[in-house]
Amino acid sequence: MRKKNYFAGPSVLPVEVLEQIRDNIVDYRGEGLSMIEASHRGGMFEEMYDECLASFRRLLGIGDDYDVYFLGGGATLQFTMIPLNFLTEGKVADYCKTGSWANKAASDAQKIGKVNVIFDGKESGYTTLPDPATLRPSENSAYLYLCANETIGGIEWKSFPDTGSVPLIADMSSDILSRPVDVSRFAMIYGGVQKNLGPAGATFIIMRKDMLERRRENLTAYMDYGLHSKEKGLYNTPPVFSIWAVKLVLDWIERNGGLQGMDRRAEEKSGLIYSVIDSSDFFRSPVDKAVRSRMNIVFRLPSEELEARFISESKAEGMLGLKGHRSVGGLRASLYNALPLEDVKALADFMVEFERKNG
Ligand code: PMP
Repeated sequence: MRKKNYFAGPSVLPVEVLEQIRDNIVDYRGEGLSMIEASHRGGMFEEMYDECLASFRRLLGIGDDYDVYFLGGGATLQFTMIPLNFLTEGKVADYCKTGSWANKAASDAQKIGKVNVIFDGKESGYTTLPDPATLRPSENSAYLYLCANETIGGIEWKSFPDTGSVPLIADMSSDILSRPVDVSRFAMIYGGVQKNLGPAGATFIIMRKDMLERRRENLTAYMDYGLHSKEKGLYNTPPVFSIWAVKLVLDWIERNGGLQGMDRRAEEKSGLIYSVIDSSDFFRSPVDKAVRSRMNIVFRLPSEELEARFISESKAEGMLGLKGHRSVGGLRASLYNALPLEDVKALADFMVEFERKNG
């Protein structure tokens, strides 16, 4: 029997996708070879790759003025590539420090150029976000950077700042394709695929083409978005296996109502868990209600001892990944697109029962 998977990433994938991979891993559609044995310069891969990018564009409504491709190095490599390309001499980059992931990005950028912290959630313990309307980018801003969903802290931007002519850059690693997004408001959106999109190994890049004019000169090959744009993401060997799996996940999303469908699922699933939390004095959400994440639900119990018991008893029931990140403790349930509604209901029931026994 499959376990119930609430891991924050790598995380649950649609079972249909795993089955499609199983059925095609040795012999891809009767071609007599596996997708992961085929050349990335060959027809079989390229046909799949083109379909994958087309599907990504369709789902998010990405215009022709944007490049879309995949890189290696995780989302973490982008913490460096973004400032290396765009935080040039005389410019300053505006960062919203909203928790672990945005803070790591800001810290890497600081080693490359001048960073202005436009918001810092430190005082609240990174449990809240600024009102986007209050954010004013610096005069000579190279870009304004934010993390759309803090996977560890469990907070998510519900709307985004209007930065005018200043490029807006967002890390959407953990909420991509969970809701419709107006891509045209962003200069760049990127993220690791290992949450809502597929297995680890690839990072998606969506970048408005005019950004390339702003980049630093003399970048080394891999660091240069210009080269990846020119080569359509195939400058070097791409993460073939991940991209194939992403293609299958995108098809699954299209079959399941697209982004409207994912949005409804996220609302329903997160609503089930938040309503258990809100209707109890036993469970507690540490984050500002207005910005709580639908993908990563962070919650606490009255004591660390009860939290440890919750984790071990849920594990015995086949529920995995409910331990909060080691940096913050507590509990966290990640409810990504592919997590079935039944598994969320099972968690809600387990929580209610746990409170009855221990509350
Ligand atoms: N940004 C966010 C929001 C994340 O959740 C993560 C990883 N969990 C990262 C960046 C780093 O991604 P990677 O491990 O792919 O480098």
